[in-house]
Amino acid sequence: MFGRAPKKSDNNKYYEILGVAKTATQDDLKKAYRKLAIKNHPDKGGDPEKFKEIAQAYDVLSDPEKREIYDQYGEDALKEGMDRSGGHDPFDIFQSFFGGSAFGGGGSSRGRRQRRGEDVVHSLKVSLEDLYNGTSKKLSLSRNVLCTKCKGVGSKSGASMKCSGCQGKGMKVTIRQLGPMIQQMQHPCNECKGTGEKINDKDRCPQCKGQKVVQEKKVLEVVVDKGMQNGQKITFPGEADEAPDTITGDIVCILQQKEHPKFKRKGDDLFVEHTLTLTEALCGFQFVLTHLDNRQLMIKSQPGEVIKPDQFKGINDEGMPLYQSSFMRGKLYIHFTVDFPDALTPELCKNLEAVLPQKPKTQATDMELDECEETTLHDVNIEEEMRRKQQQQAQEAYEEDDDDMHGGAQRVQCAQQ
Ligand SMILES: [Zn+2]
Ligand SMILES: [Zn+2]
Repeated sequence: MFGRAPKKSDNNKYYEILGVAKTATQDDLKKAYRKLAIKNHPDKGGDPEKFKEIAQAYDVLSDPEKREIYDQYGEDALKEGMDRSGGHDPFDIFQSFFGGSAFGGGGSSRGRRQRRGEDVVHSLKVSLEDLYNGTSKKLSLSRNVLCTKCKGVGSKSGASMKCSGCQGKGMKVTIRQLGPMIQQMQHPCNECKGTGEKINDKDRCPQCKGQKVVQEKKVLEVVVDKGMQNGQKITFPGEADEAPDTITGDIVCILQQKEHPKFKRKGDDLFVEHTLTLTEALCGFQFVLTHLDNRQLMIKSQPGEVIKPDQFKGINDEGMPLYQSSFMRGKLYIHFTVDFPDALTPELCKNLEAVLPQKPKTQATDMELDECEETTLHDVNIEEEMRRKQQQQAQEAYEEDDDDMHGGAQRVQCAQQ
């Protein structure tokens, strides 16, 4: 909070910049600033550095407390305070002086330092059919728009409601001198009670009640093009909430694809699962697949072809349309599962053995077989068993670690040997 003791520095410059005497009144300062600020405004071709100097000089001299410090200690003492409070933007000072209408429209985007409003993100659920065929969805939302009656100023007269005491910041910095030290304090502006605005009830805009913005219902049409992806963004520039002195942000729709019961998508390709009976796998199959655009695809095996469990087959150009070149399409892959019977009667086995390729003959003699040990195969869930074993190993490793905590000395000894 305490700066170092100020040295005396130049305390004439600000008066010279504004072209006023050291005894100038507030009125003199205002007149001088008005004339110079308009003449040197960068929007009118003025030098930005000069414009900044003028604003700075006016900012200090128009504030009685700052002026006193300046007169007594000069620029450096003030700069110490200014740096911490961030100083004032020359355009903000200009804006608060003229109320935003110095050049008529007041719509200069360069002159005013503009914030960028936040983007509003919506997620839009779409089906895989939507992404395959393309569609358009309505998105209803309500947003803030600048009040048309007061053009976002909030007052009937068009006067700025920004508090001149704090340049609309709601906080004021007071610089106080305590002996040789300068103390800088930040506190809520007393003129606007920290709101940054001074509202004159009589001058309040009746349409927005001084809020500067009104709510508007809006329906956006979101065009989902063929081949768009899950997570793809569709942006509506400048359609988010409007606010005074703010570049309106965007509305961003993020596509969120609902899971499809039949088709899975990977990039431009589609995957479909199909289960065959053992007979179909061995002797041929045909089935009808309804595609995402309701076309009926006839899918069948070649004569004599056998499909093995876990086998894939592909169909060209039946995958997803490519985004922005939808006449091209990815592949459609079919993943086959073969449903084997759980058991067969000895009778059936005999019949099958008669038609299927012969079993391999056992190499051992009867005598050798007699010497073999009997075993029993039983059902296992291999994934479950492996998972259990891994857990067990992790547990043991943890316990060993725990031992190390106590037996650390012993371990060091071992390592040295
Ligand atoms: Zn209004
Ligand atoms: Zn204020």
